[in-house]
Amino acid sequence: MKLHKTLALASAMATATTIMANTLDPANPSGNVVDRFADIEVLRYVVPDFNNLSLNQKKLIYFLTEAALQGRDILWDQNGKYNLPLRQLLEAVYTNYSGDRNSADFKAFETYLKQVEFGNGVYHHYSMDKFIPGFSKEWFAGEVANLKTANRLPFSSATLDILEKVIFDPGFMAKRVNQAAGEDLILTSACNLYENISQPEVEAYYAALKDTTDLTPISYGLNSRLVKNPDGTIQEQVYMLGGYYSDAIARIIDNLDKAKKYAESPQQAAVIEELIKFYRTGDLKTFDSYSILWTEDTDSQVDFINGFIESYGDPLGMTGAWESIVNFRDEKASARTKALATNAQWFEDNSPVDPRFRKPHVKGVSAKVINAAILAGDAYPATPIGINLPNANWIRAAHGSKSVTIENITRAYDDASHGNGFNEEFVIDQPTRDLLDKYLFITDNLHTDLHECLGHGSGRLLPGVDPDALKAHGSTLEETRADLFALYYLADPKLVELGLLDNPDAYKAEYYKYMLNGLMTQLMRIEPGKEVEEAHMRNRKLIAEWAFEHGADENVVEYVKKDGKTFIQINDYAKLRDLFGQLLKEIQRIKSEGDYAAGEALVEKYAVKVDPQLHKEVLARYATLDIAPYKGFVNPVYVAVDANGNPTTTEEEITDVKVTYEEEYIPQMLRYSRDYSPLTK
Ligand code: ZN
Repeated sequence: MKLHKTLALASAMATATTIMANTLDPANPSGNVVDRFADIEVLRYVVPDFNNLSLNQKKLIYFLTEAALQGRDILWDQNGKYNLPLRQLLEAVYTNYSGDRNSADFKAFETYLKQVEFGNGVYHHYSMDKFIPGFSKEWFAGEVANLKTANRLPFSSATLDILEKVIFDPGFMAKRVNQAAGEDLILTSACNLYENISQPEVEAYYAALKDTTDLTPISYGLNSRLVKNPDGTIQEQVYMLGGYYSDAIARIIDNLDKAKKYAESPQQAAVIEELIKFYRTGDLKTFDSYSILWTEDTDSQVDFINGFIESYGDPLGMTGAWESIVNFRDEKASARTKALATNAQWFEDNSPVDPRFRKPHVKGVSAKVINAAILAGDAYPATPIGINLPNANWIRAAHGSKSVTIENITRAYDDASHGNGFNEEFVIDQPTRDLLDKYLFITDNLHTDLHECLGHGSGRLLPGVDPDALKAHGSTLEETRADLFALYYLADPKLVELGLLDNPDAYKAEYYKYMLNGLMTQLMRIEPGKEVEEAHMRNRKLIAEWAFEHGADENVVEYVKKDGKTFIQINDYAKLRDLFGQLLKEIQRIKSEGDYAAGEALVEKYAVKVDPQLHKEVLARYATLDIAPYKGFVNPVYVAVDANGNPTTTEEEITDVKVTYEEEYIPQMLRYSRDYSPLTK
């Protein structure tokens, strides 16, 4: 499966300050909230220890971050056919506006622009729904007319008509990724990965390409767009130099070429070289060989992702959204994941799943804690807190995978969550709040470590089982599997034995939070009347609802009413662990056997439907707190300087790379559009 990201759970949990205090970078401006609008809060993250890297490492990071930023337009275009011209239009209105910036229309417009920038297009990054403008059509038309008069718009009136429709007609291209059962997922999804083609046609096209006997199967569709021409022929438009997105890919290659010179080892230079080759040829076999080289380079401190990686943005889970994260290892914190990786076989051998579905030999799980230096493409502004790649199952089986926890991002989340009132409102009593204060930060990080480092890498398919057998439910069930693996082992005495926890009861903090989130508080992210659709949310709901129902006879978990408010109470943590183990066993069976019907039944029964009463209550209580359900980040700014300390772009003159954290949200977006937009003329 292609879904190896962990997003922050309830982004709103307070945890102990003491764990964090000594790791904060003094360069961090006080308070890390940069902007707040709609359902979004934008934070800053700092990059600890960047200044301690060698000049070579800094140059390597510098050119990798440039390569990262050059891909921005690709992702915008993948997310929707009209996103790039829409961005140009909105930014032109914003920057040229000469009226009252405090007027209701302009304020609403500004919010809309911020939402679109955050979504990398006109769709919400999580719900996939199109944003609804709060400004009037007349006001906007007036501003567009002004721009036209001033000759500041590069668009034909036909394009302007369509953009107006995109903005103001809620039914037009309404949803980026539709997952509703029973509909043609391609025709009803507005993402720009397919054109004029139906779901059965797409499925037939790839079924014909797939060689089911290939032991090293190609990830068909990962780097292409599928189009049906007017004459009925089907054409795969490959993302490559000289192909689709060529202008952006050329700039990515250019910067990768520069970065290669500062690679930490010949091995890392070979990784970069192979990636360049992939961008030049579009050959997915080359992408696999690049992925293998990348997986095997575990020595380099600086590392990066750059390419078409995760497929959440494709209703059929095939095409990878472009993303890049440049990072380097946090040597101290990596001791934690090293302990897990070293014992990977023990965890595999002792898991509750049927021995037939366990891996007899867990291959090279390499895990580390990293600090992100830049977030880009699909990883920006909203970003994962953990990543496990590569996604190709056969590579994972034969060569292992790299798993990371992004510590400076989890730290930024944690910093932002202090004293926001969430625990006081939703956590049942003071002892439970104390438990969370004391153990949630560490158990939450460990949960991510276990999920990424061991969970996704665990288990195996029976011979002949199609890795895509679970189809549209594959992503949800894969996340469910990884989460259950993590939950099950969080309560294991092994973690205390390994020195990762100092109290055998610490896991209860994560258990409480997980059940609270899955049963109740994640509903804050759902609009009234809607169901749960996003894969990670479905996974959390599936686990929590299943455990609640199967523990009902013994009252393992219950809903308690206090002063008319609903709370979650956990009566038997040990039994809850047992239930997580039972469900893990079943989910692994479903995955190993490719039992689509059983997987679908679980998802439909537990993961989708929302209790309208409870939903209403959660939203009302949440509204009193003014906490943003979603968070994202502005990037630091890197400036290469010469011997005199002046900025330079001439490679030979660079004597240092400076990092600053002052840039604000919209200025960053406008700068990116100005300096890194190879696909917009
Ligand atoms: Zn995952």
